[in-house]
Amino acid sequence: MRIAVISMHTSPTAPLGQQAAGGMNVYVREVCSAFSDRGIATDVFTRVQSDDDPRIEQLAPLSRVIYLDAGRDLDKYSLYREVPQFASRIFNHVLAEDAHYDLIYSHYWLSGEVACVLRPRLAPAWAHTAHTLGLVKNQRLASGARPEPPLRIAVEGDIARCADLLVASTADESQELVQAYGADPSRVEVVAPGVDVATFRPIDRAEARSKIGAGAGPLVLFVGRLERLKGVDIAIRALALLRAQGHVGARLLVLGADSRDADESEMERLKGVASAAGVRAAVEFVGSVAHHELPYFYAAADVCVMPSYSESFGLVGLEAQACGCPVVASDVSGLRSVARDGVTGFLVAGDDPADYAERIARLLDDPELARQMGRRGQLLAQRFSWSRTADRLAGLFSSLAERNAASTVDGSHFHSRVQAGMRHE
Ligand code: UDP
Repeated sequence: MRIAVISMHTSPTAPLGQQAAGGMNVYVREVCSAFSDRGIATDVFTRVQSDDDPRIEQLAPLSRVIYLDAGRDLDKYSLYREVPQFASRIFNHVLAEDAHYDLIYSHYWLSGEVACVLRPRLAPAWAHTAHTLGLVKNQRLASGARPEPPLRIAVEGDIARCADLLVASTADESQELVQAYGADPSRVEVVAPGVDVATFRPIDRAEARSKIGAGAGPLVLFVGRLERLKGVDIAIRALALLRAQGHVGARLLVLGADSRDADESEMERLKGVASAAGVRAAVEFVGSVAHHELPYFYAAADVCVMPSYSESFGLVGLEAQACGCPVVASDVSGLRSVARDGVTGFLVAGDDPADYAERIARLLDDPELARQMGRRGQLLAQRFSWSRTADRLAGLFSSLAERNAASTVDGSHFHSRVQAGMRHE
């Protein structure tokens, strides 16, 4: 099987935790590598973002990333205008190589729009993963956050109705696709993302702290792209309460950098929040950290905090648990499928920093409870793996591709000209 993967918004090779690169990039990279191990070839089409980007890069033996020129330094909404250009460039590249694909697999609404345009010409089948949904994000916004615009929601609706297969990460996401976007339930499948437990594993805490240069004392960790959606300000206010309530040495490490799609620098805003709360010196903004170095941070921390306003899955929670670190997370659908309240950490309803401080304090005050929760989180994380994710996807994709290829009289018609136009103004 050969698959054209569309990743217009960001590249699977982009440094994580900055710009817009996060869970989706990990997902594309890990699934393509696991597909390669299974003899499934992928070409990942993404945009050139800098002069240093190669034209073609090998991600795994059977997986290539193909960089095409179609808009640089643009936020996701402005990128929509580049969809026709990106689709045409993909099509021209495919013609030039005389490549044939069994399936298109698009990621996120922008790539879904590209797939809408290319699908009649490029492959007999189309699968899509949304990663996040505009309607779900808009249901619970941080104060000051920009709602997702009607354009995105309209595009997501088209994708939900037109794709042959919608891959949801959780049962809640599949329900949203059906109920809010009108998807046909028989075309929606739930496939959980994974975690690489060989990399994300428990490490002795003292060793991990020495490796990252963290001294003794209570350590709270946040990892993620810095966007209002992630609720880092709640974690900072919770830290101020913790310190006021007796954990005077408690510190917060914030890993990740500003997201390009934000209107302002979230890091600067968060520094202001920390100063106003009187804890600026106790909050360290580390910037983005390479994925393979994160196990040391998770293992060094007493607790990983995820106060997100919404989360479609939350790989960070799974990675933390795989390293034996208890998680205090918001009680939103994605995180409910990653962490178990009272078992692997705590799920907190609402966005009150006092509730977060209270749960974190319970873990700090009771190291045995924290150890047990960390151990249970590690066991839970073993149930998720990218191999399992890839096996499930491979099964679904091959039956879909076979079914659709059988109903296509002449596969060669896919290579006629693409009439690429913007479908929503
Ligand atoms: N990440 C990273 N370095 C950083 C910050 C984040 O490698 O400095 C990775 C993190 O380990 C996780 C991903 O980015 O794998 C974020 O995924 P998640 O699902 O938690 O959030 P999303 O980005 O999808 O909102």
